[in-house]
Amino acid sequence: MVRIRFFDTYEREVRDFEPLNRDEVGLYACGPTVYHYAHIGNLRTYIFVDLLRRCLEMAGYTVHHVENITDVGHLTSDADTGEDKMEIGSRRTGMNAWEMAEFYADAFKSDLESLNIQSPEVWCKATDHIQEQIDFIKDLEQKGYTYPTKDGIYFNSRKLNNYGHLARLDTAGLKAGARVKQGERQFVTDFALWKFSLPDEQRQMEWDSPWGKGFPGWHIECSAMSAHYLGDFFDIHCGGMDHIPIHHTNEIAQTEASRGTRLANFWMHGYFLKMDKARMSKSSGDFLRLQSLLDAGYEPLAYRYYCLTAHYRSELSFSWESLDAANTTLQRLYSTAFEWGEAGDISIPFLSRFQEHIFNDLNLPRALSVAWELIRSDEPDSVKKATLLKFDEVFGLDIAGWEPIDVLIPDEVQRLVDERLAARTIKDWALADQLRTRIAELGFSVEDSETATTVRPLS
Ligand code: AMP
Ligand code: ZN
Repeated sequence: MVRIRFFDTYEREVRDFEPLNRDEVGLYACGPTVYHYAHIGNLRTYIFVDLLRRCLEMAGYTVHHVENITDVGHLTSDADTGEDKMEIGSRRTGMNAWEMAEFYADAFKSDLESLNIQSPEVWCKATDHIQEQIDFIKDLEQKGYTYPTKDGIYFNSRKLNNYGHLARLDTAGLKAGARVKQGERQFVTDFALWKFSLPDEQRQMEWDSPWGKGFPGWHIECSAMSAHYLGDFFDIHCGGMDHIPIHHTNEIAQTEASRGTRLANFWMHGYFLKMDKARMSKSSGDFLRLQSLLDAGYEPLAYRYYCLTAHYRSELSFSWESLDAANTTLQRLYSTAFEWGEAGDISIPFLSRFQEHIFNDLNLPRALSVAWELIRSDEPDSVKKATLLKFDEVFGLDIAGWEPIDVLIPDEVQRLVDERLAARTIKDWALADQLRTRIAELGFSVEDSETATTVRPLS
């Protein structure tokens, strides 16, 4: 097998990756909380997970990919106070919590499909695994890691010597200056394992438990479900970087206390997509989703290409200009590859250079530049085609499926396209964008390459 290196957040270093079990890799990714649509930042994280999986598959491993759906227990405050996001979402949408979970989980899966993200082997919902979570908490209770309060059962983080190692938390410092709101907790880093339904609260999602009626805390679902599907110690656990200090720290604490492992051999985190220098907030409702990009006339895979241009461990600042540039480049790549015709033999030197980059902590920007070198090289077209299609097993841009479409463009659309071209010529980008949106409303996309503008019906 080839040598692969990944950055492990737990050890804070790039190190050699070897599966625990020969050529099989257990991969767990924290999935979405389904109280709203996913925003494009969330989707960047799932593109990262998909690239990771495709890279492992290119290396010849069979990947057992498990992903959860958080459909209960994620509270508005990380301090285990506040309301369950699902209950709030249910009031906002007018759907009951169960219907709403189904609705947004389906919308999320459809976004993944549009982005050519491969489905996990197992999707697991927190509400389908309440018993596993109760059993996990019972085990922690027997081992002396829990205490009750009037609002729930809490994990006693001081019983673990190395609590917070993943995030390099300074727990001693926290203790000295513990002014953070603690709620019912004894210590600032303790967290809820089970929350009681309050007497004056009408919850839609609640279950009986040895401690009383209520619902599981957010972190326990991932410890319980990953153990259920992948075992107590598996290869890679991933998610977005915001999970490092709380969610993943607490998953590790629970599993370490109950099973004596740090849960996963590698902890990998995707950095954020930023907009206007601020984090985009799903709970505020003020965010861009994949559909917003489609409404503006972009194909979903233009967003995927855009994400490939940044390393997963760098923040990426979203702008329409850079999405537009990514789209233009992608269209050039598609049409060039299309014109090459049939695929022949793969260029081994180009493939090795490509793999060197992706196996070195998923360096997709470098891998993309190898693709562009290949395109500009003197290799025969058939070799270029075969090699690029091989790269696309990781890029996931569906290069093989692209073809130009000859369609009749309605006059009104053509008029807007011409106006847009004129606006671009005088660099009136705002007007050009407005025109793109109007063209999209009429069911067409516009794609610019260096030499031409292509108009296509939106799929
Ligand atoms: P949530 O649905 O809020 O549980 O988040 C789903 C995933 O998206 C988690 O792995 C988060 O870490 C990740 N995430 C949240 N915001 C962003 C962002 N702006 N950029 C990239 N990933 C994000
Ligand atoms: Zn999780």
